[in-house]
Amino acid sequence: MAKNIQAIRGMHDILPEQTPIWQFVEQNLRDVLAAYGYSEIRLPIVEKTELFKRSIGEVTDIVEKEMYTFDDRNGDSLTLRPEGTAGCLRAGLEHGLLHNQTHRIWYYGPMFRHERPQKGRYRQFTQLGVETYGIASADIDAELITLSHRLWEKLGLSDQLELQINSLGTSEERLVYREKLVEYFNQQPELLDEDSQRRLGSNPLRILDTKNPAMKELVENAPSLVDFLGEESKLHFAKLTSTLDSLNIPYVVNQRLVRGLDYYSKTVFEWVTSALGAQGTVCAGGRYDGLIEQLGGRANHAVGFAMGIERLVLLLEARTDLDIKAPVDAYLILSGEAAEKAGPVLAEQIRSEVPNIRLQMHCGAGSFKSQFKKADKSGAQYALILGDDELANNVIGLKFLRNNDEQKTVSTEDLINFLQS
Ligand code: ATP
Ligand code: MG
Repeated sequence: MAKNIQAIRGMHDILPEQTPIWQFVEQNLRDVLAAYGYSEIRLPIVEKTELFKRSIGEVTDIVEKEMYTFDDRNGDSLTLRPEGTAGCLRAGLEHGLLHNQTHRIWYYGPMFRHERPQKGRYRQFTQLGVETYGIASADIDAELITLSHRLWEKLGLSDQLELQINSLGTSEERLVYREKLVEYFNQQPELLDEDSQRRLGSNPLRILDTKNPAMKELVENAPSLVDFLGEESKLHFAKLTSTLDSLNIPYVVNQRLVRGLDYYSKTVFEWVTSALGAQGTVCAGGRYDGLIEQLGGRANHAVGFAMGIERLVLLLEARTDLDIKAPVDAYLILSGEAAEKAGPVLAEQIRSEVPNIRLQMHCGAGSFKSQFKKADKSGAQYALILGDDELANNVIGLKFLRNNDEQKTVSTEDLINFLQS
């Protein structure tokens, strides 16, 4: 027998029994984004490889070793998007959205990175990306954090997530700091692991982001970037923290927070949980004022974040108090040829007259017993029963599947009134 073809490692199916939690998250995302007046943008999943090299940076983990890159039939090098910021900026530049305007936009969809799959880390995963353009002041940085905070409240996850913030200053300030940092690490190069030795030449700030416990002390004693921030960067950060204070949003200033990508300046932040091991960051972002110019546009301001939906879903799946509705409210049971013929007409009438009802009609005949089993399994509250007797008397049986109320026999009109209420 031929071997079954299986999904690609690190790329998962989300089965019907799992989608209700996803829909719950997605509905709340949309509601919260709408509450702040953000608009959706829809972007291609594939872009020119050059776009990611130029925006994310050649010496980042993503570009060095995680991208799904291939030549298409014309010989152009294309890449499955590993993140959304680059494509969003590309679209903004292409359609003239980034000059003399402000924008607040979001996108949602799959991203692809060739990483080692484990819990909370996949090769295809889903991100919500939120980007704002054209605003220099820290009020927008604070708004993005506030928006994500509101989402945790709606999802009931506030108590599991900690907000960490930091300022990376300007690129000039970072350049001075970078020298000091390299000097510091060069005093004891033998304490650096292999990854960090490589980064020392290319991207020494990333060493601060190491997850290697053996380097904890070394990193803790490294010079701090805050000591190298200029007046303007300091004020910007102070405005952010004072807004968060006035909104009672708790945060921790984490001076080692540098983020994996090259393009950030000033504000960076992460929402972190301790419930998912090393995959603890569920949402991360910051300000990337230099990137638009780097991509060939006129200098402009930008702040955004990306949220990993699989990690949120893992947190929600672990909760027992979550009341996720079954996909069916009522299940229509049909017995006998005449009922099977009348069934679709009745079902359509109910769907037309009872707004938002989720009615599943039994298909494929079968005994009452087997139909009741299916009704129960569907999660429906009610079984609606149409058999020869009911048809003859112009009534419908109404059985309550989730409580002990007695079964009733009602007219179509009464049934519809009941379902409407
Ligand atoms: P990490 O430190 O976990 O590798 P990152 O810095 O690479 O994260 P970003 O590029 O900032 O992550 O992406 C934003 C968010 O997207 C992450 O905080 C995480 O929630 C999610 N994410 C990133 N990579 C993956 C992945 N391979 N699988 C699942 N979720 C991911
Ligand atoms: Mg990563």
